[in-house]
Amino acid sequence: MSQKQEAAPAMKGLGHKPKRTAKPKLPQKTAAHQGELALIEAIRVRTLGQRAPQLELGIGDDCALLGLQPDEQIAVTTDLSLDGRHFSLDCHTARAVGHRTLARGLSDLAAMGARPLAAFLSLGLPERLTLPRGKKPSWMDEFYDGLLTLAGQHKTPLAGGDLSQSPLALADIVLVGAVPRGKALLRSGARPGELLYVTGQLGAAALGLDLLMKSKGAAARSKSPRVQQQLERHLHPQPRLAQGRRLAERRLATAAMDLSDGLSMDLARLVKASGVAAEVDAALLPLAAGATLEQALHGGEDYELLFTAAATTRLPRSIAGVPLTKIGRIIAASKGQPALTLLRNGERQPMAASGWEHFS
Ligand SMILES: [Mg+2]
Repeated sequence: MSQKQEAAPAMKGLGHKPKRTAKPKLPQKTAAHQGELALIEAIRVRTLGQRAPQLELGIGDDCALLGLQPDEQIAVTTDLSLDGRHFSLDCHTARAVGHRTLARGLSDLAAMGARPLAAFLSLGLPERLTLPRGKKPSWMDEFYDGLLTLAGQHKTPLAGGDLSQSPLALADIVLVGAVPRGKALLRSGARPGELLYVTGQLGAAALGLDLLMKSKGAAARSKSPRVQQQLERHLHPQPRLAQGRRLAERRLATAAMDLSDGLSMDLARLVKASGVAAEVDAALLPLAAGATLEQALHGGEDYELLFTAAATTRLPRSIAGVPLTKIGRIIAASKGQPALTLLRNGERQPMAASGWEHFS
């Protein structure tokens, strides 16, 4: 049997080892292999209804083929989610994990002003998560429910990936997007005198995470509309793709990034990339209902956009229903001065970057 007849290589599992087909005499391995192929086939079938003109060849060959418009650049981002680090099997539903896995990648495309072309997902799961739970579908099935629902909303086909049995649940997503050549929003474009903006509201995701972890996941089952609303932004963040594209296409923003690790941490990265400093006015921050200033400044995962614009640029109040709010300004960096300053109650104080950081 040739390699191409054997499986769907653009969505291949680790058990797929074409060179070993001469020795197919290990019944247990064969059973596992069959199981994996059946799982992969089930995923492939779920992606058949995807409609996306840019997907010229989807799952089923050695590679997917994506079409580009003339004069576009490709934007690529990858993001790893681990149980116990980025999500918790004890606290998060499979749907929420699937949604969040894709949202993280889409948010990076939004930050560059890119339009999504396709997603590629590598999934490592303990076997029990691939098995039906009584009459309920498997954890993996519900994970794909969450991921594919968001993918459909943003016309982002799942065009390939990999699947492996793993002691630790993990999801590694790759997003491929396209941006008009020369118009991508970079972190390095901010200049002194420009103004600093965010989309949407800040602190909601940190507030939701706090509720979820303090209740050990019980908050997710709460019937209270208020609790559900507070959890929503943590469980189902919305990548700001329409906002990023508009800012890029109309050249409204000079620099941008998405808020994944917290405003203080991410702003520190933006000013460093641009070689500038920034002042944030606490009174201007658009706090989400119930969120504290601390959560807005240092809580991660809001997945809003942080961007800069020239003081003379006329920005709309909102883009696609999401408000834009001025929160401060860009100033020149100078030796001995903090890169970030917080104006609060008439006082200026240095603002430490203290959001989410790995290996810290
Ligand atoms: Mg990012």
